[in-house]
Amino acid sequence: MIDVHCHLEQPNFEKDRDNIIEKSKKQLKAIITSCAHSKDFDLTLKLVDRYSGFIFSTVGIHPKYVNEISQKEKDVFIERIKEKKDKIVGIGETGLDYYWIRDKRLQEKQKELFIQFISLSKELNLPLIIHARDSYEDTIKILEREDAKLVIMHMFGANQLTKQIIENDWYISMNAIVLKSKRHKKVVRDTPIQRLLLETDSPWLAPEDFGNKRNDSTAVKFIAKKIAEVKKVSFEKVDKVTTENAINLFQLNF
Ligand SMILES: [Zn+2]
Repeated sequence: MIDVHCHLEQPNFEKDRDNIIEKSKKQLKAIITSCAHSKDFDLTLKLVDRYSGFIFSTVGIHPKYVNEISQKEKDVFIERIKEKKDKIVGIGETGLDYYWIRDKRLQEKQKELFIQFISLSKELNLPLIIHARDSYEDTIKILEREDAKLVIMHMFGANQLTKQIIENDWYISMNAIVLKSKRHKKVVRDTPIQRLLLETDSPWLAPEDFGNKRNDSTAVKFIAKKIAEVKKVSFEKVDKVTTENAINLFQLNF
């Protein structure tokens, strides 16, 4: 199994980050950690170096932070991403978040930022990890208009649009929300397993039976189990196919 989306740099991993990673190494083939703010880039790169061949990273600016990072900081960050492109397997998370950002002017700013990261992903030929909340239509419209090809819709829950995702040859990464949400179950039901990936979005979104308020990458097994149940295939099949999907899409080298 591979957790294709989590946030290992988060401060609530600070005390026992290495333990969590060692524990995950026993159960998973790889972890892809998502750096979502320029301030987290150094720590992310350190983790990639330290756990080379197990930890990989994607880098972007979460749309929620649109107003926290100045134009100058953003430009510097994008230049640094280009310099470090050999340490990165994807761009994101990036996208649109109308749930946290209601201000129309800031939503427009999110769109500009999003388009910049789409073009960065094309320039570097890296897949995009998309965050969309209350913004599915706009997000998909921009991705199509900008002709984005390598796309992963993280935590995708708009089942009425699943067909469009599949037709675009994009991927969907699913986390513990599928254990509770009917909409997300329908997305899994309607998506071929060859287009699905496992993620945790840890430290957030711990599954209930994880017995822990803080989530970590070892929880991917619960997602795989649920996907197997929804799609009526074996756990082993979900494990095998989603792992292959992740290796091919992110071009992981071990
Ligand atoms: Zn995330």
